Amino acid sequence: MKLIPDWAAQRRNMVEKQLRSRQIRDKRVLHAMQTIPREYFVPPRYRNAAYTDQPIDIGYGQTISQPYMTALMAETLELDGSDSVLEVGAGCGYAAAVMGSIAKRVVSLEIVPELAAIARDNLHYVGRDGNITIIGGDGSMGYASRAPYDAISVAAGAPHVPESLIDQLNTPGTLVIPVGDRGDQELRILHKTRDGLLWNVVTQCRFVPLRGGEGWD
Ligand code: SAH
Repeated sequence: MKLIPDWAAQRRNMVEKQLRSRQIRDKRVLHAMQTIPREYFVPPRYRNAAYTDQPIDIGYGQTISQPYMTALMAETLELDGSDSVLEVGAGCGYAAAVMGSIAKRVVSLEIVPELAAIARDNLHYVGRDGNITIIGGDGSMGYASRAPYDAISVAAGAPHVPESLIDQLNTPGTLVIPVGDRGDQELRILHKTRDGLLWNVVTQCRFVPLRGGEGWD
């Protein structure tokens, strides 16, 4: 007899043990991650590991972030349902699904064309593609044609903060971006307000490198 995994239970467990216990408090983020079937976003061979407390290989040298990191970034952006969001680095589309279930709309860029296609398929398969557009291409300079954005989430480690991302941010608006070297970064948050730019560091982190014009190559 083949045992069918209880995904809902695994999801609940992940939300309790990995998110709530580490002070993720935003109800919208917790609800999104309680409902989005992460098991369909990881490659089929890793499905049984979908809810583990770590990043997972999604091919092409890239990863799906640890659930906690996705939650922390989404919470940091303080999405309220009216937001226009830019994501740089869609990967398999999971974080886009989380943000898209809270925000008004999400546009997410992915530099690896195969992953852009996979992200689109995954979002369509789980019925979350209504307000999310995945665009294949370099997002290190943002995506000017849909700017300004209320929130920008960069899911790859940048050598510096691209000026164009700050330009494409609304006022008020929030940018979250890992900045550092290729291996280790600090997750920085920028609040753009009428009084100016306010920077803070959220945590230390380890993302795959940001590529492209404002990235590492
Ligand atoms: N958002 C994902 C994490 C993806 S990992 C999640 O749901 O967990 C980061 C992704 O950024 C990789 O897929 C990588 O290919 C992509 N990437 C790196 N540099 C990029 C760039 N300049 N523009 C767009 N995508 C980029």
